[in-house]
Parts: sequence; structure tokens; C-alpha cells
Amino acid sequence: MQGGMLYWQAKPGGEGRAPVRVALLADIHSNLEALTAVLDDAREQGALDEVWCLGDIVGYGPDPDACVETILGMGHVMVAGNHDLASVGSLSLSLFNADAAAACRWTGAHLSQAHAELLAALPLQTERSPFTLVHGSSRAPLSEYVASPESAQACLDRIATPHCLVGHSHVPFVCREGRELLELPIERALPLVGQRIVANPGAVGQPRDGDSRASYAIYDEDGESLRFRRVAYDLASTQRKMRLAGLPEILALRLQFGQ
Ligand code: ZN
Repeated sequence: MQGGMLYWQAKPGGEGRAPVRVALLADIHSNLEALTAVLDDAREQGALDEVWCLGDIVGYGPDPDACVETILGMGHVMVAGNHDLASVGSLSLSLFNADAAAACRWTGAHLSQAHAELLAALPLQTERSPFTLVHGSSRAPLSEYVASPESAQACLDRIATPHCLVGHSHVPFVCREGRELLELPIERALPLVGQRIVANPGAVGQPRDGDSRASYAIYDEDGESLRFRRVAYDLASTQRKMRLAGLPEILALRLQFGQ
């Protein structure tokens, strides 16, 4: 048994606190239209008590400051993503392809000083019971893509909570300990009790699973479950802004293909 199992039924905050419903967001990537649509949807679902961001708030898209500002305006938890740190000079651009590096440079030149400092100071990993939150994986927070049962297990072996939430691959999945990675059908609630899972809510701002709609998940503390959602947004507006900003054309184009 993992040490994290001791946390199994623990709820944060202690007695007398109402259970929360949390919007789990990864890879927003400066896409304000997608972020706004997701937050509107989460609000309709009664799931905006808090927002937990799994890294890469910025990079690729045209609205870095507005996306950071939007998250700061809510109860939030954030961890750093590789694009966040590269955009503010805390991670080498040599690790990025030419288009991603160009977008990071553009982002760094357009972010406010205060937001740049905030991103530079984000933790690589944090805990919110019953989850550990990290962008890539607990084994390599800024670089590893969890894409196999082995990499999911490596995450679980390194954390002190029952479950792990990741981003980075831009592909939504759930992996139960010892099982394959699965795409959870939209809307079906996944109970968390009695098992350990690694989950990726997919990308808000640049999905890569062939579906152009923004992807996110809801954690329902009361039901101890996860639920994935997809939300259509005005991606033509995002593309227009990207082209006006002079960001690489391929980054605008890929939004409409979900790739
Ligand atoms: Zn990303």
C-alpha cells in the first residue's frame, strides 16, 4: 500500500466547511476565448468554487496577461508549466521547437512585469487533498508526458496523496493504477474512492486529440468524483488575434483541427 492511502477519506479544511466543486484547467496557453468559455461552463455547472491550474497558462496564444488576470480573480491554485517558465526566462528556449520558442519570446515581451514575476515564482508541484498537482509528471515536472501506465505509476510512486493531476500532453485521460490510460466519456462521473488515479483534464487553449473544443474537468469533492467536459468557443477570434500579433501561422491553424 502507498503512504498516500492514509489520506483516502481526508477532506481539506476540516469540519463545518462546505464541499467544493473545482474546475481543473491545464494548458490554457493564453487563449482567453477558450478560458472564458470554460469558466462560463463551469459556472453553469456550479463548479467554480476554485480553479486549479496545471501549468502553461501562457505561451502560444495572444492574451497572456488577460488569462493570468482572469485566474488571479478567482480562488485558485497554480503550478508552473514549461511554457510559463520559458516565457519569463526561467527555462531555456533550446528545449522548444522554433514556433513554440517564438511564441514564448512574444509572450515574454508582452507580459506585465508583475505577471512575469508571479509565473517565475510558481511551484513545480503542489498538493490539494486528495491530489498532487503537477504539469508534466512527478518524476519530471516540466518535461515528462504521462502517456503510458508506466509513466502514470512513476507519478503515483512519488507522491504522498492518493491521486495525481497532470497536464502537458494536451490530451485528456484517466489512468487507474495498474491499468491502461483511458479517455473518459464526457459527462460520465469517475468515482475516486477505492482506487488511485492519474488524470489529465486535457487542454483548455490548444487541444491535441482531434477535437477543437476546449477541454477541462470538474472535481466534485462531495461525490469524490471527476467529470470531463468539452466546450466550443470562438476560436476564429483567437486565430484573428494571433495573426494580428504576428504569432506563427501554424499555431493559429492548429486550433481549428484540435492538433
Ligand atoms: Zn502546454
